[in-house]
Amino acid sequence: MRGRLVAGNWKSNGNLASNQRLLGDVRAAAAGLRGVECAVCVPYPYLFQTQQLLAGAAVTWGGQDVSQFGAGAFTGAVTAVMLLEFGCRYVLVGHSERRSIFGESDAVVAAKFEAAIKAGLTPILCVGETLQEREAGVTEKVVSRQLDAVISNTGVAALAQAVVAYEPVWAIGTGRTATPEQAQAVHACIRGAVAAHDASVAGGLRILYGGSVKAANAAQLFAMRDIDGGLIGGASLVADEFMAICRAAARGQ
Ligand code: PEP
Repeated sequence: MRGRLVAGNWKSNGNLASNQRLLGDVRAAAAGLRGVECAVCVPYPYLFQTQQLLAGAAVTWGGQDVSQFGAGAFTGAVTAVMLLEFGCRYVLVGHSERRSIFGESDAVVAAKFEAAIKAGLTPILCVGETLQEREAGVTEKVVSRQLDAVISNTGVAALAQAVVAYEPVWAIGTGRTATPEQAQAVHACIRGAVAAHDASVAGGLRILYGGSVKAANAAQLFAMRDIDGGLIGGASLVADEFMAICRAAARGQ
């Protein structure tokens, strides 16, 4: 059975004092959680603090981006090996904000995914369509293209070491969530696309939904057959809300 995962994406939010409270609250609430893994993806400067405050906790953590390069003359870039030194298990790759604001192409995202895999990190590969693409009826085409870029670069077997997050761009930070049926349809398409290469990798692949998930809509989304948890932005900054979402994802609830 696929494990459940709920990962928070803090984006460019937080400060030392507020992180201390948030991480303390998440740590305490996660101690009683069963049947779901809870993770937080924090800004780079807070990885040390996160590592200190979550040591020994039932919470894992990760970065929000990674360099496609190794060590060397790449000013401003943070390598996968550096993330590992701070105890990261995960790293977000190809978040729609990286693709749209920072201009990351499918090829760059695929190179970042490869760098994460080679270092032993678990990339959370984000894919998803814009509103315009959904309205044009090309959602599955776009998501398959984003996925194929990674599979053709690294091979399908690498997905056994990865997580995929379906995040419709129109649902991120907008308060507009995909319906459980809309999300399930794309999740099934992603699993089907991977199964066309390797059915066993597809069967074990955790596919998260992201886009305005809240405690109030989480249970319906997580009840869908191909939804294995969530990638949570805004709601991950509020411990009670985030932990309620984690509880909604727990198997056996
Ligand atoms: C995200 O940033 O990945 C995200 C899903 O954000 P939100 O939950 O705020 O829509």
